[in-house]
Amino acid sequence: MTEAEKSQFKSGFISLIGRPNVGKSTLLNLLLGEKIAIISDKPQTTRNRILGIKNHPDGQIVFWDTPGIHRARSRLNQSMVKVALATYKEVDGICFIIEANRPFDDENDFILETLKTVEKPVLLVINKIDLIPKPDLLPTMDEYSRLRSFEQIIPISALLGQGVEVLVAEMLKILPAGPRLFPEEMITDLPERFLAAELIREKVFLRTHEEVPYATAVVVEEFKERGEKNLVVIKATIQVERESQKGILIGEKGRMLKEIGRQAREEIEALLGAKVFLELWVKVEKNWREDPAALRRLGYR
Ligand code: GDP
Ligand code: MG
Repeated sequence: MTEAEKSQFKSGFISLIGRPNVGKSTLLNLLLGEKIAIISDKPQTTRNRILGIKNHPDGQIVFWDTPGIHRARSRLNQSMVKVALATYKEVDGICFIIEANRPFDDENDFILETLKTVEKPVLLVINKIDLIPKPDLLPTMDEYSRLRSFEQIIPISALLGQGVEVLVAEMLKILPAGPRLFPEEMITDLPERFLAAELIREKVFLRTHEEVPYATAVVVEEFKERGEKNLVVIKATIQVERESQKGILIGEKGRMLKEIGRQAREEIEALLGAKVFLELWVKVEKNWREDPAALRRLGYR
């Protein structure tokens, strides 16, 4: 690389891919310094691809956070994997994320398989290094570099923010020279009402178990800004598949729903920088996860 090339401003797209739960959304939020992707300890939290924009003195990196790639069974999960794989064609580089404490498994083999025909630069990111003793990293790095050629292998901890500067520098290296693609103040193209729905869904993921979080979708029915009072009125429906799940979400004397609403409201207020009045309803929509029309209505394609 010549000096002139090195000093050039870079811009382009990078997709963050990996098995469910490896920390893709945590990494995206860390890279942006803002929470736009929701996170939970349960796999398949992210259902759509989420665009995040990082402005750096040397370039602008546009990220696609994607649903985890896995061998999917349900229609919803199959559509999520399709979303993730479709980003391969649209990006300048790929960031394949694995977990330091679980580097080898069937799903990572599957992802390597999907990357076989991809000629774009791929960075291998080993996340969660805070969970293992340092010497344990070497065999993983060794083994992976035998499996395919990576532009670079970068160990990080998205939780503790370790290794991220190195990662950003490596990302800038693989991007083409070019001007900003989005305005500097923009960090995502997602509308605020989508982010609000996602924050509500995150609280459901946080507080419920087994089938309930997966059977949940959130629809914002009303999103009204009352400019003069710096107040936003939001009405949202939490949709589940069965009466029993509705009962769980509402909870004894409505306590569960109240708590979900309180936590979501606080985060939406921080996101919007306004006071929020949040009204939540729970509705049963039988088998929406297998219903193509319902999936389209919810924006899952
Ligand atoms: P995604 O499904 O790949 O988007 O993963 P998430 O970002 O939702 O994270 C899944 C879980 O891993 C959450 O409980 C995170 O707090 C946790 N996590 C993410 N990064 C790290 C890390 O660097 N170290 C540790 N210990 N946990 C992490
Ligand atoms: Mg995610």
